[in-house]
Amino acid sequence: LDEQEAFDIEYWLLEEAKLQRMRRPKSLAGRVAFVTGGAGGIGRASAERLLREGACVVLADIDAGSLDTAKAELSKAFGADQVRGVLVNVTEEAAVERGFIEAVAEYGGLDILVSNAGIASASPIEDTTLEVWSRNIDILATGYFLVSREAFRLFRRQKLGGAVVFIASKNGLAASAGASAYCTAKAAEIHLARCLALEGAEAGIRVNTVNPDAVLRGSKIWSGEWREQRAASSRIGEDQLEEHYRARSLLKRSVFPEDIAEAVFFLASDLSAKSTGNILNVDAGNQISFTR
Ligand code: NAD
Repeated sequence: LDEQEAFDIEYWLLEEAKLQRMRRPKSLAGRVAFVTGGAGGIGRASAERLLREGACVVLADIDAGSLDTAKAELSKAFGADQVRGVLVNVTEEAAVERGFIEAVAEYGGLDILVSNAGIASASPIEDTTLEVWSRNIDILATGYFLVSREAFRLFRRQKLGGAVVFIASKNGLAASAGASAYCTAKAAEIHLARCLALEGAEAGIRVNTVNPDAVLRGSKIWSGEWREQRAASSRIGEDQLEEHYRARSLLKRSVFPEDIAEAVFFLASDLSAKSTGNILNVDAGNQISFTR
C-alpha cells in the first residue's frame, strides 16, 4: 500500500465507524412517550432527551404559545413525525382523557408517561388562601393522579407494561418554611408514585420519581413570585439565588433541566428495568448536605 492508499483506507474505516454509530439502534426507538408540561423547562428537556433516543413524544401543556414553539423546534430537530402537541390542562378530567386518546390515535399506543406539569407557590401559612392551597393540590397531586390513571388504563389494555416517571421535588421529602401547599402536594406525588408502583408491578408497569433540587435556568417557575419569595426567605438578593443553591450543594454544582432529563431517560428506559417505587434525587448532593 502506498501512503495515499493507506490514508484512504484509514479514512474509510473512520467514516464506517461513524456510520455504524449513527446506525446503532436507539434505545427508545418505536416507543411513545406522553410528557406533561412538555412545552417548557424540565418537561421540554426531558422530551428532547427521549426524542434523541428515538421515541415519539406527545407534548401536553396548558400554554398554547410555548407548546407551538416547542413542537416546532423539536420537530425541526428530530422530524415532524416524532413530535405531537396536545393542549391539556392536567386538572381537567375530560381534557386529560382526550389528550391520551389523541396520543394513541397518532402513534397507536403508549409506553412512557412523564408527569411533570407544575407550578409552585410560596407563602406563610397565615397568608395562604384556600385558592392557592387548592391550586397546588389540584395541579400537582390531582394532575399527577389524572394522567397516571389514563396511562395505567392504556398500559393494562396493551399488556406490554409501561414506565411512569414523576417529576416531584426535593421539597416532597424535605420540609420548607413558607411553601406548605407546594411541599404537601409534592409529598403526595411521591406517595402516589409508591402506591402505583405496587399496583402496577404485576403488569410490568414501573413507577419512579425524580426529585430535583432547584433548577433555576429555563424554568418559568423561577421567573415569577416563587423566585422573589425564595430569595426573601433565604435573606439574599434574587441574583444570588443560583450561587446560593450551588454553594450549599455537596458537589458545588448547579442543577440544569438537562440533568433531570438524564434521570428521566434512565427511569423511562430499560436501563432501569429492575427499578420501581424508587426516588432518584438529582440535587448535587443537597439531600445529604442538609444532614451534615
Ligand atoms: P416550568 O414552569 O418551566 O414548566 C412547567 C410546565 O408545566 C409549563 O410549560 C407550564 O405551562 C406547564 N403547566 C403548568 N400548569 C399546567 C396545567 N395545569 N396543565 C398542563 N400543563 C401545565 O417549570 P419547571 O421548573 O420545568 O418544573 C417542572 C416540574 O418540575 C414541576 O412539577 C416542578 O414542581 C418540578 N420541580 C421543579 C424544580 C425547579 O427548581 N425548577 C425543582 C423541583 C421540582
